[in-house]
Amino acid sequence: MRRNYESTRNQEIKCLASEAVVKGIALDGGLFVRNDIEDLELDLKDLLNKSYIDIAKVILSKMLDDYEKNEIDELVEKAYIGKFSNEEITPVKKVGEDFVVELFHGPTSAFKDIALSLLPHLLKKSLEKNNIKEEVLILTATSGDTGKAALEGFKDVPGIKILVIYPNDGVSKVQEKQMRSQEGSNTFVYAINGNFDDAQSQVKKIFTDNDIKEELLEKQVRLSSANSINIGRLVPQMVYYFYSYMKLVNLNEITFGEKINFTVPTGNFGDILAGYYAKLLGLPINRLICASNENNILCDFIKTGTYDKNREFYKTISPSMDILISSNLERLLYHMSGNENKYIDNLMKDLKNKGKYEISGDVRNNIREIFRGGYSTDEETKAEIKKIYEKYSYVLDPHTAVAFNVMEKNREEGYKNVVLATASPYKFSKSVYEAIFQDEIDGDVEVDEFEIMERLHERTEVKIPENLKNLKDKEDIHTSVIDKDKIMDCFEVIL
Ligand SMILES: *Cc1c(COP(=O)(O)O)cnc(C)c1O
Repeated sequence: MRRNYESTRNQEIKCLASEAVVKGIALDGGLFVRNDIEDLELDLKDLLNKSYIDIAKVILSKMLDDYEKNEIDELVEKAYIGKFSNEEITPVKKVGEDFVVELFHGPTSAFKDIALSLLPHLLKKSLEKNNIKEEVLILTATSGDTGKAALEGFKDVPGIKILVIYPNDGVSKVQEKQMRSQEGSNTFVYAINGNFDDAQSQVKKIFTDNDIKEELLEKQVRLSSANSINIGRLVPQMVYYFYSYMKLVNLNEITFGEKINFTVPTGNFGDILAGYYAKLLGLPINRLICASNENNILCDFIKTGTYDKNREFYKTISPSMDILISSNLERLLYHMSGNENKYIDNLMKDLKNKGKYEISGDVRNNIREIFRGGYSTDEETKAEIKKIYEKYSYVLDPHTAVAFNVMEKNREEGYKNVVLATASPYKFSKSVYEAIFQDEIDGDVEVDEFEIMERLHERTEVKIPENLKNLKDKEDIHTSVIDKDKIMDCFEVIL
């Protein structure tokens, strides 16, 4: 077996795909990347008429090549069969002249279900393959959706515990309730005083701290991550790019080989990076359009070549994208620089020391050739939700609406557009209801989010996903709020 995964920051740190899934992040703080991804070949025609699950089997065996074919088949089936409320897994809808691929039909109504339904199975198999007997602790910072999707994916998986940390006041009421009411004897959830970047920085610190590592080793515990820095999160996300493309071909909306544009509501840069990987495997993608909210650091980066996190942090109505450190961008820089680990290491040192870095020359040009960036303010996002509902009776969630708005701003003659729809509108009912029926909610702002969910349903007649419908009557199990530098204290409880 070839050890074809390496740290973005050091090519001496190499491992197998299954090892990268177990480790989550490299010891030097770098992310695992497949160093020969440009050489992979895929028979695209073979994917036409295949189901989502069958495409997933093909893509996963390609990318994670130390798993046996039959192992992958089994894992993919376990993850998806009977677990999604739509049998296509990610149905594609036509909205006006554009397309939306709905990624929110999983157990928590968030697109992260797609990867997090599979990751626990991948991880369990990786532990087996690498003969690891220790208990695994999944440690995850969340801006809302990852946490719940990870908790659902990992709950009651033997030999694995999961700790989720989310920013108090940084998530919607529904997201909060989803996490507080999480069942499962191996699940632990804490809110911290701070924003998502604080939560993520704390988690990263724990991962790279050798003392903590040794302490855990003594207790026979191994840390891993469910964040999109784990390659096992990223690879499953490539699948819906292929699926939606093939779907457009099968619907005669495009001809086979025709290039299309994807617009992706972006936070940690995982989802859109999966699109870039799909392109590297040969999917005919013209542009990947990176959509941000007012935290438009990525948009500025794509335009100027400077990534500068010394800026104000905004809370927006698309909270899963309220992020100033987009971890997976590091992977893009690695590939775009031609696997220059040293270069990446220096950029990341600049980011750590100065809060910014600058790219130039080929790397910058290579990115500009494929990527476009844009952003949508909360006002624009609300107007977008209203407009699309009134024109097409289609209800966008705020994240998807950001993408829809940015897609329109970047429309290119001659290219069909697919927008990735990353959450059910019912996860953000209040913002959506206010956007569409603005006039009627004034003076009635105290109505709770669950009541608004019902009202939104009555008005739009869009079905409420089962998992959200029953949520409000669930019991709160996890209610602790802690200071952001006190995460280590949680370990006492868990271990
Ligand atoms: C996580 C999330 C995003 C951003 O995806 P990244 O992979 O972090 O870029 C967008 N929308 C929603 C609803 C999300 O939960």
